[in-house]
Amino acid sequence: MSRPRILIVGAGFAGYRAARTLSRLTRQQADITLLNPTDHFLYLPLLPQVAVGILEPRRVTVSLPGTLRRVRLVLGEAEADGIDLDARTVRYRDPEGGHGTLGYDRLVLAVGSVNKLLPVPGVAENAHGFRGLPEALYLRDHVTRQIELAAGEDDPRTRAARCTFVVVGAGYTGTEVAAQGQLFTDALVRRRPLGDGVRPRWLLLDIASRVLPELDEKLSHTADQVLRQRGVDIRTGTSVREATDGGVLLSDGEFVESRTLVWCVGVRPDPLVEGIGQPLERGRLIVDPYLQVPGHHEVFACGDAAAVPDLDNPGQFTAMTAQHAWRQGEVAARNVAASLGIGSRRPYRHRDLGLVVDLGGVKAAANPLGVSLSGPLAGAVARGYHLAAMPGNRLRVAADWLLDAVLPRQGVQLGLVRSWSVPLDTASPEPARVPERQPSARAPEQSEATEGQS
Ligand SMILES: Cc1cc2nc3c(=O)[nH]c(=O)nc-3n(C[C@H](O)[C@H](O)[C@H](O)COP(=O)(O)OP(=O)(O)OC[C@H]3O[C@@H](n4cnc5c(N)ncnc54)[C@H](O)[C@@H]3O)c2cc1C
Repeated sequence: MSRPRILIVGAGFAGYRAARTLSRLTRQQADITLLNPTDHFLYLPLLPQVAVGILEPRRVTVSLPGTLRRVRLVLGEAEADGIDLDARTVRYRDPEGGHGTLGYDRLVLAVGSVNKLLPVPGVAENAHGFRGLPEALYLRDHVTRQIELAAGEDDPRTRAARCTFVVVGAGYTGTEVAAQGQLFTDALVRRRPLGDGVRPRWLLLDIASRVLPELDEKLSHTADQVLRQRGVDIRTGTSVREATDGGVLLSDGEFVESRTLVWCVGVRPDPLVEGIGQPLERGRLIVDPYLQVPGHHEVFACGDAAAVPDLDNPGQFTAMTAQHAWRQGEVAARNVAASLGIGSRRPYRHRDLGLVVDLGGVKAAANPLGVSLSGPLAGAVARGYHLAAMPGNRLRVAADWLLDAVLPRQGVQLGLVRSWSVPLDTASPEPARVPERQPSARAPEQSEATEGQS
């Protein structure tokens, strides 16, 4: 008899953990295939540290072929209308535009989420998201460039605009980007003063009444205090009415001149799951507590793309966090194995172990096991947590942290990622293949520098 074919789509927190657990549980008894656009798992929570030059980009990646020995990696993206539950096949597009089809006996969908766009005029054209390495590298270059251009700028108004950075969305991504960003630009300016004592200004906006609105109030209070002490201009109860290439019109009527708009308003499930034609909850594929799609017990889903019942809070679904995705990946793997006669299945149940929000320097806000911490102790807990949670590359990450503690940070532009290659709408079918649109969509970086906001 041929071995059962297990297909996992997506190698983020949920898919990577599912693949790793399945390769251990099934040994040689099943063929495991992992379909993912890249050859690495990306540890997203440390992305803000890549954007400000603390970590080199490869540090936050873990090689899939290097760590998943019994898993066959297929590079590609499942197509939105390419999942045929009756035929049990998934059609995909490879990185060079070719197409292929994979059959399966068990399917694990773990495609995560994409930037959430709101219908605000000018945002799609003038903002950048923060979901992946290209965006982090782009932001690092862009911010460095703005400071360098500002230093040589004679017009005080243009100089101030270049040194004003607007972050929208005070969830953990936006909060960390603003907190780290202020330290980064202050460090750049110390080496290359802007004249007249001008200091870079970071604005953090959220329509909610506090930063980190979805997290514990104590975490929020700690983060708020650290950000304000650092000089970040926090505007709660405020959103963006319009974005232009010269700045941002806020909902209170103020126009903030700026060349930088970072869009961190949250994420929505990958639109791929919509194409399957099964019931959704706010765009997430509904599964039962065993992470199986009702009516299709050979299909499992987990992570941000799945609406997983929260058994501790009946009627609710688990949050879109790395912690849930990582643990759901393991439960999905165990239940797939159980469906093949290996072990027994179990429902997903998990209580939050707490969260850490790295605020840069030695500061963080953390509540491990419900105990609220702030200051350097929280900073140490946050770094220890990330090292423990990363599935690889720990030594390199720790080495970068050590180097950053003793050496000045390198503030140079590499120009590897251009504005047009990181459009805000990462849900678009071909986000990475827009060079053809380059001349009309965005000018290259050099001309962008004089052109205005990116
Ligand atoms: C900047 C940032 C910071 C964050 N910080 C934290 C934090 O501190 N704590 C926390 O708990 N959470 C954090 N999160 C949220 C957390 O990262 C997500 O909840 C988590 O990544 C979800 O895991 P996932 O496996 O569902 O999706 P992901 O980790 O996003 O992985 C999805 C995978 O699927 C692949 N994929 C997508 N579409 C397709 C397709 N069509 N075909 C094949 N593969 C596909 C993607 O390339 C990716 O590899 C952060 C998120 C971001 C963006």
